[in-house]
Amino acid sequence: MDFLAFFSRNFVMPLWARREHSNYLKYYREMLKTQYYSPDVILADQTLKMREVIYHAYNTCKFWQERFDSLNLKPDDIRELDDLQKLPILTKTDLRMRLDDMISSKYSDLSKLTRFTTSGSTGVSVTVYADEECTQFKRAATLRSDEWTGWQRGERIAAIWGNPKLRQDFFGIIRNLLLERYYTFLDTLKMDEQSMDKFTKQLLRYSPGMLFGHAHSLYLYAKYLQLKHPDVKIKPHGILSTCMVLHDFERKLIKEVFDCRVTNRYGCEEVSLIACECELCNGLHVNSDALYVELLDKSGNPVQVGEPGFVVVTDLYNYAMPLIRYNIGDSAIWTDRKCPCGRTLPMFERIEGRVADYIVTDKGEYVSGISLTENFACQVDGIVQLQIIQEDINKFTFNIVKASDFGESTIEQISNLVNKRFGSKAVFDCVYMEKIPMERSGKYRFCISKVKKDL
Ligand SMILES: [Zn+2]
Repeated sequence: MDFLAFFSRNFVMPLWARREHSNYLKYYREMLKTQYYSPDVILADQTLKMREVIYHAYNTCKFWQERFDSLNLKPDDIRELDDLQKLPILTKTDLRMRLDDMISSKYSDLSKLTRFTTSGSTGVSVTVYADEECTQFKRAATLRSDEWTGWQRGERIAAIWGNPKLRQDFFGIIRNLLLERYYTFLDTLKMDEQSMDKFTKQLLRYSPGMLFGHAHSLYLYAKYLQLKHPDVKIKPHGILSTCMVLHDFERKLIKEVFDCRVTNRYGCEEVSLIACECELCNGLHVNSDALYVELLDKSGNPVQVGEPGFVVVTDLYNYAMPLIRYNIGDSAIWTDRKCPCGRTLPMFERIEGRVADYIVTDKGEYVSGISLTENFACQVDGIVQLQIIQEDINKFTFNIVKASDFGESTIEQISNLVNKRFGSKAVFDCVYMEKIPMERSGKYRFCISKVKKDL
């Protein structure tokens, strides 16, 4: 039993928030209501917040003042959310080249800001600063969505993560023990039998309320339990899959092994939570309290419902470093379905993955990496796992983990699919390996395109 959960939820959390002068629990309680507001109210609220951010950015950031002036625009020209389209897309290159000029003059003491640096697994590493109020607001939004998993705040958390780091000073240890409640980690950079066994023992001992981790690492661990310890029963209240696209076959197996809900969440370091599935796991609710999200096509026009578009975000809370129309580098699809949970936040049907994981053909077509790997995996016999790397526009490498029935017909099937998907000029090499290597960050990518894209 987790006796500390009640104590943490009802006493430690409010007292600690007061000690830190943090408003996150107040924001959290408000967000429990705003998620059911009518769409018109949500849009009106976003419009007001967006206007404030625009004024603030223009008046206190050199970068934004220059950008507006170069376009002959004034903040008053951006009154409605659609007016944002008058501004160009903010890129990772802008962030890298102009970081200093993007920080508001009102927040020049960087030591008072929270610094986020992306891992750079797409080849581009960027740094973003956020002010304290923004950080606390995002913390509240994350807490709200974490509870959609079935986990309740205060309960223990176990994580499958790359490079887990916990503070080791006295305050850090107490904070984690009573407040954060991360009890155990499985380092995704070292997922061998010994570490998975140790992790299993700790899960059995502490029965965490939530198991949290990268989609594919959760899958690998579930598969390991199924094969090696079929009698072990670990049943958290919820499983949160994040950081990577969660494939249907992965969700199915994780759900089967742990006999509990598997919730998919989408976010990034720069703006934190972007969208998350609710308890019905029926599409992802966008974090509209903190962000205004656009999905755009290659020409920069909004896409229709059901069409994939690249994710562009305006942060409605970051006053330290305003991010207006920031291209996250991922692709997602809108749905106009209403979720039976009653929440009115706009919804993604699904996340298509990183734009860097899209293959671009010699005709300029974009092929989603997630659909592609699933497509190949389903249609080609003799393969345990496959990684597709687009080295050049018509040159591919297939990293293959062979199954026992691998043979000449496997290569023939791949060849036919390459022809069909990428055109007759496409050539490929096969590299055989024991397992697909993971990224330095501890994540897996099954489709990598090295071709530069316009998005
Ligand atoms: Zn819902």
